[in-house]
Amino acid sequence: MDEHQKAKFVRRIGGRRPYQRVGKIAAGSTAVAGVYYVAHLEQTPITKRYRFCTVSADESKKKAAAAYKRILEEFQDEDKVVSEHSATHKRVMAIATRLIKAAEHEPALERTLSNLQLDWVVHVIQSSKVNAFVLPGGQIFVYTGLIDFIGKEDDGLAMVLGHEMTHALLRHGAEQATLKTIFYSVETLILGAIWFMIPSDIIAYLLHKTETYLFQAVTELPYSRKLETEADAVGLQIASWACYNPEAAPLVWEMMDNYAKAMGTDSSNLRYFSTHPTHETRVEDLTKQLDHAWEEISWRCPTTKFIKDVRPAMEAAQKQRMEGIASQYRAQVAELEDNIHKVEINKKRAKQQQNEEKVQSYEQKLRKYRQRLKTIKEKQQAPGLPTQ
Ligand SMILES: [Zn+2]
Repeated sequence: MDEHQKAKFVRRIGGRRPYQRVGKIAAGSTAVAGVYYVAHLEQTPITKRYRFCTVSADESKKKAAAAYKRILEEFQDEDKVVSEHSATHKRVMAIATRLIKAAEHEPALERTLSNLQLDWVVHVIQSSKVNAFVLPGGQIFVYTGLIDFIGKEDDGLAMVLGHEMTHALLRHGAEQATLKTIFYSVETLILGAIWFMIPSDIIAYLLHKTETYLFQAVTELPYSRKLETEADAVGLQIASWACYNPEAAPLVWEMMDNYAKAMGTDSSNLRYFSTHPTHETRVEDLTKQLDHAWEEISWRCPTTKFIKDVRPAMEAAQKQRMEGIASQYRAQVAELEDNIHKVEINKKRAKQQQNEEKVQSYEQKLRKYRQRLKTIKEKQQAPGLPTQ
């Protein structure tokens, strides 16, 4: 390399000390990233938790408005929206209004509410699913399955609504969207680096295949659990400000736990991969928060005279639900046992006729029925299910 070429090369790699340039770029990027991070750092109301959130309230609201339109239209097309004149709608509306008013009276939420400008609306959906959700724009959807599940006490429903409303108030959706963006950016960088070192299609394919799983295991699931726990705690507070009986909160989750176990979707088996904290953890956490909730009630509610014992009615609703499930299982067992008996007779006959093909097809059927029977009998062992 002659002097001229050398000078050209040095110029190309960015001066006599290229590492200085790399250092400057690195320092510059870190500073920019730092400023960006700090600029998007915000504090949650009530829990005062610092979090990084790149999605603005306006952005979430716009997205939520589109989602709301789509979801509502879907329910309307299926004719599932319960009339606003119905007693059920009026009941849910009254509970939601009481919670919203309590939140509006709370000084700690004043700024949040004026920033978010939530459009609180309530829709009751005709569906047997035990479910409710609130969109980031404040639109509340409650399924009749949940209303039936909880029974006649409003307090239980208030706890679920308080929890769901908290997701909107604390902008949990925006927080999760931010997390997703960060994860995929970092993942793309890592993927790019690996691709650069080992340019193999198989590795790229495998990484691409596992990304959703990785995202859930590393970030989404533990993070959602954290947000769920926060929604439980704040939801309980909001319901207490509205003078609902806080004892209903652990009761609701206890009911859900028993229900999940009876239906064979016991979340403790999925402790690690469940988006929600296990029901038992929830019950424990909420029980610990009861003293604080009663304290809030004692100086916020003019009287505790109207706060009634919700346990009997909620337990009665639970008992009824459990009896329903148990009798369903009994009917299924009887039907399967009857089918097994019939197929066994047919199999015997086929054997006598030495029809091997038929024997095999009956055996296949028997295996299927017996497997189903085993599954139902296991479900029948769930705690909380009456045996007879
Ligand atoms: Zn939730």
